[in-house]
Amino acid sequence: MEGQPVAKHSQPNLQQMDLVDRCNEIISAIFWDLNAACQMPLIVQGKPEGIDWQYYEIMKNSTQAFIDQTFMALVECESNPANASRHIQALDILSWKIYTICAHAEAFRRLFETETDEIWDKVLELVKAEERSVEVFACTRGLEWRGPLLTKASDREWPHLQEALAPEINTAVFHPHQVVQTQDGYLRLATFEGHVQANISESFHNAKNFPEGKYLRLRDADTYPLLREPKWGPCALCGSLERCNCQPVFLAGDLVELREYPGKGIGTRTLTNLQPDTWIGNFVGELFPTSHREGYWSFAGTFCPPGRTRRLQDYKANINPERFGNWTRFANHHCEENTHAGSFLAGGRANIAFKVDQKINAFDEVLINYGRGYWQGAGRKCLCGSKNCVSKR
Ligand SMILES: [Zn+2]
Ligand SMILES: [Zn+2]
Repeated sequence: MEGQPVAKHSQPNLQQMDLVDRCNEIISAIFWDLNAACQMPLIVQGKPEGIDWQYYEIMKNSTQAFIDQTFMALVECESNPANASRHIQALDILSWKIYTICAHAEAFRRLFETETDEIWDKVLELVKAEERSVEVFACTRGLEWRGPLLTKASDREWPHLQEALAPEINTAVFHPHQVVQTQDGYLRLATFEGHVQANISESFHNAKNFPEGKYLRLRDADTYPLLREPKWGPCALCGSLERCNCQPVFLAGDLVELREYPGKGIGTRTLTNLQPDTWIGNFVGELFPTSHREGYWSFAGTFCPPGRTRRLQDYKANINPERFGNWTRFANHHCEENTHAGSFLAGGRANIAFKVDQKINAFDEVLINYGRGYWQGAGRKCLCGSKNCVSKR
C-alpha cells in the first residue's frame, strides 16, 4: 500500500495556528469519545434499567459500519491499488489495533468524512505519535476493541489481522490511574513503600485517628471531618445554602494519564484540551487530624474554610494521599503552574479540588505550585527552569 498515488481532497489555506488548534480540538474529541466508548459497556453491564440503549446501539453500530467500510475498501484496493481510500491509508499508518480503537470515537470517524487532507494528515500524524497513549488509555479502561474485527477475521486472510488479534495481558484489572507509562515505553504500577497505591473517589477517615470525640462515630455523616458548613457558602453545583445531596463528578480528570517525566518521576498529562476555570479533579486521601503531621504530607493536604485566614486551628483535616488517593496526587510542581487547588463546596462535603488557571493543551502536563514552604525543606531544589523559580530567588 505504500508509495501509491493518492487522491487528494480540496485544500483551503489554513493559517498554521488555526491548523494546530483544529487538530488539537479533534484529538481532544477523539479521547472524549473513546472515554465514552470505554465507560458505556460498564454502565450497561452494571444496571441495564434506565440506560440510553439507543446511544449505545448507535455507538456500536457506527463503529462496526466504519470497520466494515474498511474491509470493503481493502477489497477494492486489491483491484484498483491507485485508489486507496483514507481508510486504507490510515490503516497503513496506524496498525489494526490503533485504527480499530480510534474507530470507536465518533470524532475519528467524522475526520474521514468531513476534514480536508491537510487536517486529516496532521491528525493522523498526531495519533501515530501518541499511539502508545491511545493504546494504554483504551486497554486500561477495558475497551473490547477487537469486537468489530472478529466478525471478519474468519472470512479470509487479511493483511496483519491475525497478529492484531493475538491474546494480550489484561491491564484493565487496575484503575487507569494506578498504571504509569515508563520512559522506555513500558507500564508499571504506582507504588508507595512497596504497596500498590489504591485509587479512591472520596476522602475517608478512620475514627480511631480522631481522638477528639467529635469524629468518633465513623459511619455518622455528621462526624465527617470535611463536613460542609453552610456558612462557608453555597453548593457549587446547585447553589443551595443548605447541605444538599449533590455529588461532584470531575469528568475531565478521566482524560489524564500518568507517565514518567525525566528527572521528575511520575507526572500527570492531559489527553484533551482543558479550558480555564474547569474543575478537573478532587484531591482525595485518608483524612487525619491536623495535629498528626508525621512523614510526608501533601502540599494541599489541609482544608481551610474560605474567607478565613490560614491559622492552624482553622484547618479541619489533613489529606494524606500516599496509600489512598487519585491522579491528583501525582501532579508535579512548576513555579509557573497551570492549575491550582481551591475549595470546592458541594453536597455535604467541603473538597480540595484542582482548577485550571490557563488553557492546557492536549498532551501537556498538568502542573501545580507546591508552595514556598515545600521548597524550604532540606535538600529540595526546584528544577522547573522558569524565570520566577522559587529556587532562584
Ligand atoms: Zn447542591
Ligand atoms: Zn521552579
